[in-house]
Amino acid sequence: MGGSDSDPDGLHAQAVADLIPIVRRVVGGRVGGHPAAEDLVQETLTRVLAASATIEPGMLEPYAIVTARNVVASMWRDEDRKRRNQHRAVDLTEPESPEARIVLDEEQGAMAQALGRLTDRERQTLLAHEVAGTDTRTLAQESGSTAGAVAAQLNRTRARLRVEYLLAARQVEPPTDRCRPVLIALSSADQRRQREVGAAQHLLECEVCAELSQPLLERGQPRDDTLRIPIAADPDIVAARTAARRLASSLSFGPTDLTVIATAVSEVCRNIVRFAGSGEVVVELLDTPRRGLQVVARDAGPGIGDVDAAMTDGFSTYGGLGLGLPGVRRLMDEFAVVSEPGHGTTVTMTKWERNDHG
Ligand SMILES: [Zn+2]
Repeated sequence: MGGSDSDPDGLHAQAVADLIPIVRRVVGGRVGGHPAAEDLVQETLTRVLAASATIEPGMLEPYAIVTARNVVASMWRDEDRKRRNQHRAVDLTEPESPEARIVLDEEQGAMAQALGRLTDRERQTLLAHEVAGTDTRTLAQESGSTAGAVAAQLNRTRARLRVEYLLAARQVEPPTDRCRPVLIALSSADQRRQREVGAAQHLLECEVCAELSQPLLERGQPRDDTLRIPIAADPDIVAARTAARRLASSLSFGPTDLTVIATAVSEVCRNIVRFAGSGEVVVELLDTPRRGLQVVARDAGPGIGDVDAAMTDGFSTYGGLGLGLPGVRRLMDEFAVVSEPGHGTTVTMTKWERNDHG
């Protein structure tokens, strides 16, 4: 693992790369040679990498397996919904607002229900802190405790609240007594507790928890406005996807757009690895009046001789795999390629948030 010993991200990336064969097997078993298979593998690895800091190492493999299953299942759901909605693609404006209202009502209802499942004391402390802004020291004085103990209690309460909210929002009742302890251990990112409650084993056995584990593990990644990722090998592609997805998820992109962005990033990174050998990707949040995500992928490789030809459908840069640059251009809102033979290629692409222009 030369050189990466001091770099925890590098270690995670390597551990995740080691999962590639098993993820390929799970995805392949479900979708066979479908053209999207490789992308589902990448998407799975992206999610596992995003969660790898919060789960214990022994759980990476089972988590990768359940994630692969979830990714495949949710892709078919999306496809299905797209197919069903196709006939009304022309007129989406009318049905959208009542639906949005129902979603909002449901979310509030779920939150109320989740709060109701906390003890009175947990709820009062949490609301005093989060809503009224009372600091932990004051709360500690009131309850004859210490600020550290109050902070730890608040973390446990938040972890429980996230679990109860998810259960309420999805109207799921956990099938076994072991489910809640496992879900709370995942939600609190407490690796010792995850081992104690046998979270890894349980995720493989319990479909309900396998599905709920996803949103619980993917939250709370640290954020920056700009991320720069060196690209030299396949695990870097996963790291770049993860970074792009993480930044994008701090805007209001929906799950489909997040996948679209991750896919586009992965494609331009694959180009770098295969043609230039190395390069870098810079992912940046644009906070202009309109908000969006910009991705710049650069390399100093041989360059593209004929950019116009490379942007033509059917022109395959590497033996038919992937979307090619025309596919990436269709995924993103803005797309530009500048290439100078012998001096490298720069791809700049942007995806805008959709909400502001309806
Ligand atoms: Zn369970």
